[in-house]
Amino acid sequence: MEQANRIRRDLLAWYQAEARDLPWRRTQDPYRVWLSEIILQQTRVDQGTPYYERFVAAFPTVEDLAAASEDQVLKLWEGLGYYTRARNLHAAAKIVAGQHGGTFPEKAELLQLLPGVGRYTAGAIGSIAFGERVPVVDGNVKRVLSRLFDVEKSIDDTETEKALWAMAGKLVPRDAPGDFNQAMMELGARVCTPKKPACDACPVSACCIARADGTQLERPVRRAKKAVPHKEIVVAVIEEDGRYLIGRRPPEGMLGGLWEFPGGKVEPKETHQQALVRECKEELGVTVKAGGMLACVKHAYTHLRVTLNVYRCAIEKGTIKAKTHTELRWVPRSEFDEYAFPKGNHKFLDLIE
Ligand code: SF4
Repeated sequence: MEQANRIRRDLLAWYQAEARDLPWRRTQDPYRVWLSEIILQQTRVDQGTPYYERFVAAFPTVEDLAAASEDQVLKLWEGLGYYTRARNLHAAAKIVAGQHGGTFPEKAELLQLLPGVGRYTAGAIGSIAFGERVPVVDGNVKRVLSRLFDVEKSIDDTETEKALWAMAGKLVPRDAPGDFNQAMMELGARVCTPKKPACDACPVSACCIARADGTQLERPVRRAKKAVPHKEIVVAVIEEDGRYLIGRRPPEGMLGGLWEFPGGKVEPKETHQQALVRECKEELGVTVKAGGMLACVKHAYTHLRVTLNVYRCAIEKGTIKAKTHTELRWVPRSEFDEYAFPKGNHKFLDLIE
């Protein structure tokens, strides 16, 4: 108990003195706290900050966000990745605006009923916006806890994860739970970093078991990572009368709702040309002739690496029909900016004239 009190006291004092001035920390408005938390899931602070500012400027209230079209939301989200977050954000805004009169539920367990709000996000909103005594455990907090308490088991195991949530729950104070939770995350992001923990500058070093044992760099223990698979993809750039054919991906699944050029995975033993012909038949119902290569770009997602082989193609036979996309459109180059494309597509858009 004595140790927990000391950790709370020293960490909060450090946070009051050292916390970064981030735009969402200047408010306790649950809408803005929620917005920042969704944007910062799987996104670094420096990358997410301009998106947060753009969303707040475009949609100052949850009602404004609820009233936006999905295209507007996806366009503003473009480049952040994990587009399910954007769709959940929009769906949750509609629920808060439509079913809760524009007011967020005040309890973490009720917040978790909103789309895209898991235990971590609910804890963050509950503690920061409403002062509820609930913990948060993200990647940074897992690292800090596994070092503070020298956790020898893999943090990828469910049992260990449960134990970490329990540890965090015991540590979070009744007073200022939001500040404490943010302090834990801030410590992980700035001091107790993965490869070079700055133990000499750490406010809780006196309580840190891993530091005392010299095991900081061995914590957290992780399960060996699986190799990230790689896929060869062909992309067909089909132009007619100065307009290009793009399709909208179905709302479910990876990159759902975004616009893209037709194409897909190259099957074993297939040439790029054969893959283009097959994919265009499957997706558009037409026969195409593949022309010259426009670009070859690589892109990495968290669980997948792709090489995009981009070819000019022309329709030889048939009438286009959306067979796998929800919609097809012919769009002039000058209007590409109005559509949300996956990040990988942006790597070759400039080459299309
Ligand atoms: S003393 Fe070092 S390992 Fe322990 S919490 Fe602080 S920075 Fe992390």
